[in-house]
This record gives sequence, C-alpha cells and structure tokens, in this order.
Amino acid sequence: SAKFAKDSAATRALAKEKLFNGDSVVELREAIRAKLVYALGKTPESARDRDWFAATALALRDRVIDACHEGTGGKVPEKRVYYLSLEFLIGRLLSDAMNNLRLVETTKAALKDLGVELTEVEEAEPDAALGNGGLGRLAACFMESMASLSIPAIGYGIRYDHGIFRQSMEDGWQREAPETWLEEGNPWEFPRPESTYRIGFGGHVTMSANGDLIRRHWHPAETVNAVAYDIPVVGWRGKHVNQLRLWKAEADAPVELARFNHGDHVGAVAGRARAESISRVLYPSDSSAEGQELRLRQEYFFTSASLQDLVRRHLNERGDLRSLPDHAAIQLNDTHPAIAVPELMRILMEEHDFSYEDAWHVTTNTLGYTNHTLLPEALETWPVELMERLLPRHMQIIYLINWTHLEEQAKQGKSDSAHVAAVSLIDESHGKRVRMGHLAFHGSRRVNGVSALHSELLKSTLFKPLHDLEPEKIVNKTNGITFRRWLHNANPELTALAVETVGEGVLDDPELLIGLTDYADDPDFRKRYAAVRRAKKRKLAQVIVERTGISVDPSALFDVQIKRIHEYKRQLLNLIETVALYQAIKEAPHKDWTPRVKIFGGKAAPSYVQAKLIIKLANDIARTINDDPDVAGRLKLVFLPNYSVSLAEAIIPAADLSEQISTAGMEASGTGNMKLALNGALTVGTLDGANIEIRDHVGADNIFIFGLDAAGVQARVTEHAYAQRAIAASPRLAKALDAIGSGMFSPDERGRFGSLVDGVRYHDPYLITVDFDDYWRVQREIDAAWKRPATWWRAAILNTARMAWFSSDRSMREYAAEIWRVKVA
Ligand code: PLP
Repeated sequence: SAKFAKDSAATRALAKEKLFNGDSVVELREAIRAKLVYALGKTPESARDRDWFAATALALRDRVIDACHEGTGGKVPEKRVYYLSLEFLIGRLLSDAMNNLRLVETTKAALKDLGVELTEVEEAEPDAALGNGGLGRLAACFMESMASLSIPAIGYGIRYDHGIFRQSMEDGWQREAPETWLEEGNPWEFPRPESTYRIGFGGHVTMSANGDLIRRHWHPAETVNAVAYDIPVVGWRGKHVNQLRLWKAEADAPVELARFNHGDHVGAVAGRARAESISRVLYPSDSSAEGQELRLRQEYFFTSASLQDLVRRHLNERGDLRSLPDHAAIQLNDTHPAIAVPELMRILMEEHDFSYEDAWHVTTNTLGYTNHTLLPEALETWPVELMERLLPRHMQIIYLINWTHLEEQAKQGKSDSAHVAAVSLIDESHGKRVRMGHLAFHGSRRVNGVSALHSELLKSTLFKPLHDLEPEKIVNKTNGITFRRWLHNANPELTALAVETVGEGVLDDPELLIGLTDYADDPDFRKRYAAVRRAKKRKLAQVIVERTGISVDPSALFDVQIKRIHEYKRQLLNLIETVALYQAIKEAPHKDWTPRVKIFGGKAAPSYVQAKLIIKLANDIARTINDDPDVAGRLKLVFLPNYSVSLAEAIIPAADLSEQISTAGMEASGTGNMKLALNGALTVGTLDGANIEIRDHVGADNIFIFGLDAAGVQARVTEHAYAQRAIAASPRLAKALDAIGSGMFSPDERGRFGSLVDGVRYHDPYLITVDFDDYWRVQREIDAAWKRPATWWRAAILNTARMAWFSSDRSMREYAAEIWRVKVA
C-alpha cells in the first residue's frame, strides 16, 4: 500500500513476511478491532494499551490456532515429549508469537492504522514470571525450540496466581511485592475445565487379595482438583504448535453445602482456600530446597495431574499402557517432579493391574531426569514421616523400589554398609529422608547434566555410587537458548545486520552466523556492528535513568552481572573489585582509566539474608561512588531493580562485558552467559559450567578467563586458612575489605557489612579471596582491550559468529536423538 512507500525498510520486511503469510494489514487490523469490541467490550476510544494488547494477542492467537490445525492435520504423533517442570519463565509472549508467525511488520502497521504504537502495546503485556531463573527460563527456551523443530510436546507445570515476586528498592534494601500477572486475565490461555483430575493427599492404604495377586488401594483423606489451562506455543514460521499445559488447583466442592446451610458461611469455604493454596504462589528460592509441606503438595499435585493426563491420552490413542515407552518420553526438569517415579508405578499397579516388574519396566523406559545442581543446599530430600503422612502409598512404593534395588546389590555381593548407605534412596544420616535425586536417577532411563563439566562432576561426585552401577546412564546435554527470542526479538538491529551480511537463511540456520567471521577484520562492518551496540546502550541508558535516576554515559564500557543473587555466583567478588577500583582511581585520578558502568540486576530469595545484604551493599557503594567527583566519568554502579525476562531483553543487547564469575564447579551451566556472548558481549569468567564450552567455541583469545578451575577449588578448600593467607598476600584486597567492613559505604550504620566481610575473611567458602588478584588482573586487561576498539569489536563479532552451537535447537536435537528417541522432522 502507498502508505508504506516512504518506509522502505518496513515495506521490504512486509514483502518478506507476505511470502510466508497471506495475512494482510487490513485483515489483521479488522481482526484486532473486532476482538477489542466484541471479545473485550471496549471501544477504540476508551481502550487502554492493556486492552489493545489483549485484542492483539487474541487476534494473533486465532492465527496460532490456525497454524496448529494446518500443522498436525489432526494426526496422532508417533511419539510425544512431556516436559515436566515446576517453572516456566516464559516472559512476554506477544513478540514471540508475532515473530514466529512472521507478522511483526503486519501487526505494527495494523496497530498504526488504529492509532496505536506496537511498542506501547508490547510494554503493556505483563511478564509471565512463573520461574526463578535459569531452570525456568531453560524450560521456556526448550518449549519454543521443540515447537520450532516440530517435536510433538506438551509442557506441564503450575498456573501460579503469583509468579516470582516483584522487587523494588527501599533505601537500597530489596522489598518484595506480590506479582499479579493474571489480574486482568491472560489472553493467551484456554481454560480446559473438561480436563480436570482429582489429586489425593493423606489417608490410608488397604490391601486385598485376588488369588495370588495382592493389591493395595490408597484411600486419600483429601482430594483437590487440577484444572488444565493451555497456552499454545508456536514454533518458527508457524509450522508447528505445541501446548504448555498449566494446572490450577480447585476445591472438589467450592462450598460445603451442609455447613453453609447451617449458617457457617465462612467455614463452608475454608476447604476451598486450602485447596487453592496449592497453585497460589511460586516458591521464590533459587538453588536451595524448600522443605515446606506446601511445596511437596505442589510437586505431587502437578506431577500426578500430568501423569494422569498423559496416561489417559495414551489409552485413548493406543489402548494399552505397555506401549507407553514407545510413544511417550517424560522429562523431569530437576527433582521437583521426581515423585513421578512412584506415581507412575502406582497408576500402573493400582489402576491398571500391572505387576511390579512390568510397571518398573514401563517407568524406567519412559522417564528421563535432568540434574541442575550439585549444591548440597539445593538437593531435595523429604522426611519419610512427612511422605508417610501426605503420600502414604507412594512411601510404600519407594520402600519397595529401594528394597528391590538393595537386594540386587546384595545379589552382586555388595552389601557392606558404606555401599548401601551411598546407593540407598533413603538417607538415614540425619533422620530418615527420601533422596529425590537418587529416586529420579534410579527411576530414569537417562540422567543428564547441563554442561560438559557438570555432567562429569555428576559422575565423579554426587552420583558416583549410582553411576558406577550403571555407567551408561549419565549423559551430557549442554543447555541452549532460543535465538528467536534472544537474538531476533531482543536485538532486531543486530539480526538485520546479520541477515544483510550472511543472508536471510541465518534466521533458519544459526550456523550461518559463522559467515560473520569474514567480516571481523572489515573496518566498515566493525563500525556498523559497534553502532548497533551503541544504539542499544543509549536505549538502556534511558531505562536506567527512568528506573534509578542515575544517568550513565553510553560511551563507557557497560559491565553487566545479571542473574539471581547468590553467594556462589559471587556478585560480592565483583563488588569488592569495584571498591578496589574506586580506591585506585582516587589514588591516581589523572591516570587514563577506562570508563566503566557496572550494571547489576537480580533478585534475592526473601529469606536469604546474605544475598539481600549484597544488594544493599551494591546500592550503598553506588550512592557513594556515583556522587564522588573524583571518579566522575570513570566509574558508576547501577543496580537495576526487578530483573526479569523483559529487562534481560533490554540489558543483554547493550552489554559490552558479561560477568560469569561463579566459583568453579558450582554453576551447573548458566544460560545468561550464552545470551550475552551471542549478542557480542565479551565474557569475563571462570572455567565453570558452560563457560568452558563457550571458550572452546569463541576461542581463548576472545574471552577473559581467570581464577581456579574446579579441581583447583576442590584442592584449595582442604588447605588451612586459605582466605587469611590470600588476604595477607594482597594489600589491594585487604584495603577494599577494610573499607567495606569499616563502614566507608555505610556511614549511617558502620557495622552493616561487618558480617559479610568477616565471612570472607575467616571462612570464604566461595573462594573470593583466592580468586581476587587474578580477577583484578584480568579486569585491567579488559580495560586495556577496550582502548583498542579494532580488536575489541573483532572479538565481539567473533563471539556472535561462533555461538550458533548454543542454540536450544541443538540441545533439543540431542535430547530427541539420545534421550527421548523421537524423530525430528
Ligand atoms: N533470569 C532470567 C530472566 C534470564 O533470562 C536468565 C538467563 O538465562 C537467567 C535468570 C539465568 O541467568 P544465569 O544463567 O546467568 O544464572
């Protein structure tokens, strides 16, 4: 249309979109208008951005559903993947849907015709923040990749009323507020009340004999309904659509009529509140186990609903559960759904008359388990006493599985108590507890770690005793990220540059990014690449000033550490280095310092005292140094509140330096590291998790590695007083610690950080003191590198060019071939 003649870029993009989709601007515009008027009951004049968002989402959802019906043609797939995860950190869905349907420019134009800006509409979508961090975001990337690869899959999780809390700062302290993403409904979801399952809790178990066959029956004391809500997940170019099925807890009887009729109007709805509490909130702890009863209820609730659902589907389609392993692969995202092992056994034995052996065969050929952590505090164990009370039948089955498992060991002559204690599903060292990791391991056909290093450490540490029994079981599947979201949507400018340089095919095949290598030495290309970054930094600077009041200079080096606040991730190492740098600049203000903006983002678990203190320290340091004229123009520190998927999308394309500085051996993989490197930030990192594989791909010259490796850490922690000795050897470190400990940044409360500093001085389990000097060294190397723009941008371009392997499409292909045994079209 003539309207677009002026905007040649948009016209070109539109023409391309039309190749894949016949939808015209006028058609979509009228569809959006109709949704606004008839589905939402609003007029264009009265509509807020939130209403336009809902109308646009509904119009696009129709097109997703059309794509879904075209894609499958109603055929039953040969095999489905069921991805069970307590977290799906999907964020906003509008840009995903538009991009994958190739309707970005069409939607923009349609909204413009209606007098609305697409960016405003996108901003009005609340983040679906149904996860804590990497584990939940991984599940979201995997769902998108499975849809893009046409792997038939259903993601199963919980439809939390409240996802991860909203974080704000009050005098530099983290404050938590409930997050309310469902306040105005969710236009993406389909409620499926017809798919409702009863989930039992408590009660007792009876026995009956039928000839030789003894059967047990569970009689739960309490039941809760799990009601399905489906969110369609559309793959790249709209070729395939999968479902994310999230369960909402509802009471069996919303009102107890007898009590109500007796005048007890409040008591009559008490049961409802208790039932519904199961899907009320996401537990906000990352990398630490929540031992509360409600958490175990959540785990069983969603696992049981998901298994009942997939068993029913399988029976409808195939008639016989013996063939379940041929047609279903169930992946357990961490141990949160590990109760699937006894639950599937129970369903098969109790509801379908399977023998123990047959049920075990089906179970262990259907389940797979992904381990995400070696941190002891994150390994789930549940007291046997709690299990017996809440899930009495499951506890019996776990005992039966364990008995069979230990009998097998005895048959092989391995019944010494140390061996039995190491391989048993029950830990008896501090009261009796069920080891959910051991249970998931034993009940699965394959167990995978999430990076090469992490998988090796699973074999040599946490699961060594079990691995020795079944050396084929542990495999590695290094994490990945979806490029559609983390490159194409988050950084359309860089994507456009890549398309222009290596061709349109790069959108389908990220391996083509390697073609950028040829341009890494081209000064013109470097300039254009740097200009994209500069534009993204200007945008981020705008966000920073709006949200914190701090103005930053986009020409400074943007040094970014964004992730959950956790001691093993060592935000404190970064902060101590910041203080040391501040002191060094003040001592030599006329030196040619590289201007830096240190950007932090991340939430601390509300009960994690040290992590919250680290946030306060960041803000106290910021207050001091940002106002100090001695360092003006050289150093600033910003803590951006409420780190989330949408904030990540704004920060990542604007980052020059990516901080991945965990204590080696403690970060299982990381995925933030991949997103930043893909967008061309250089990594400063330890040899931990996927950092090692990133180094192998981008090249050792294009990454800044420092510190002890995992073996070095294991050796050092056995040495006496390693922290004191490291501090004694480093006057710079000692001085920075003194400044923090003595209250230089907290004049209103000088002792505020005393405990934090003493923890480092006398204990230092995360080896901050040991790695500090090498970290300082590499940071000064980075300062120097920044002053050689030609080499800096060359390295950045090579990072983008060589990161294709970290696509979650690659991860999903590997899972499909080696774990799930499902064909990829
Ligand atoms: N939180 C969000 C919103 C993310 O996008 C990511 C990135 O992958 C993470 C957490 C995990 O970050 P990291 O791998 O650095 O811990």
